[in-house]
Amino acid sequence: MAQPVIITVAITGAVPKKKDNPAVPVTPSEQIESTHQAFEAGAALVHIHVRNPDESSGSDPELFGRVQEGVRKHCPGMIVQFSTGGRGREPAKRGAMLYLKPDMASLATGSVNFPANVYENPPDFVEGLAKTMLEYDVKPEVEVFDLAMLYNAAGLVKKGLLKDPPHVQFVMGVPNAMPARRSIFDFLRKELKEVMPRATWVAAGVGRHQWEVNQWCLETGGHCRTGLEDNLRIEPDRLAASNAELVKKIADNCARFGRRPATPAEARSILGLRQTV
Ligand code: ZN
Repeated sequence: MAQPVIITVAITGAVPKKKDNPAVPVTPSEQIESTHQAFEAGAALVHIHVRNPDESSGSDPELFGRVQEGVRKHCPGMIVQFSTGGRGREPAKRGAMLYLKPDMASLATGSVNFPANVYENPPDFVEGLAKTMLEYDVKPEVEVFDLAMLYNAAGLVKKGLLKDPPHVQFVMGVPNAMPARRSIFDFLRKELKEVMPRATWVAAGVGRHQWEVNQWCLETGGHCRTGLEDNLRIEPDRLAASNAELVKKIADNCARFGRRPATPAEARSILGLRQTV
């Protein structure tokens, strides 16, 4: 039996603009449409940032709410994950939409340098966000941009601020953060097994590393993340036509690795989330 892989699609992100690739969805209606196409191509989880009218990274709960409502209506069972990421958002606003109770939200468990700034996640801020997620019954996706974040997450589990089993994402290839090297990927998997043995995991490769990391995950039993947030190209010399095209590339290659795309119901069961359909 082929082992199911949860395909996450990170549709928009905080940085890519339409001028970089016209397929980047920016308005809620574009985001819903792009998510729907990705859902039909095999994605079971959508990672969402919202944008202000000038395309800068947004915090408006109303925008998050509109995207969530559209996804729930058009993509039955798909897991909705909100980003609590920084990039121009005030710390106090980063969790301001969690009352909308998405299935999941991202939780970076430490600070790190990004291409042009510091992604600040001080310990008290991380604990505050984790508590808010517990309060609203939102499952965190722990974002590991650098090594210490893995052990910080294990510390949160010990303190009862993160439910066990957690879901962890290794983010590789962000300039100034953790590079996309196979030796690091293998080390992270081994360490995860020791410090959070029950955790589920996924890895994201940023930019030209996306497809390489997707294949590592398929090979080693992890879940996969793709999408225009992380990478704008389907081939080194060709822009992706849509988020769906990136998802389809994973779906089309699953069988080679003894995998198949998880249905939303399977993905919910793997992550311990309530079923909705
Ligand atoms: Zn994101």
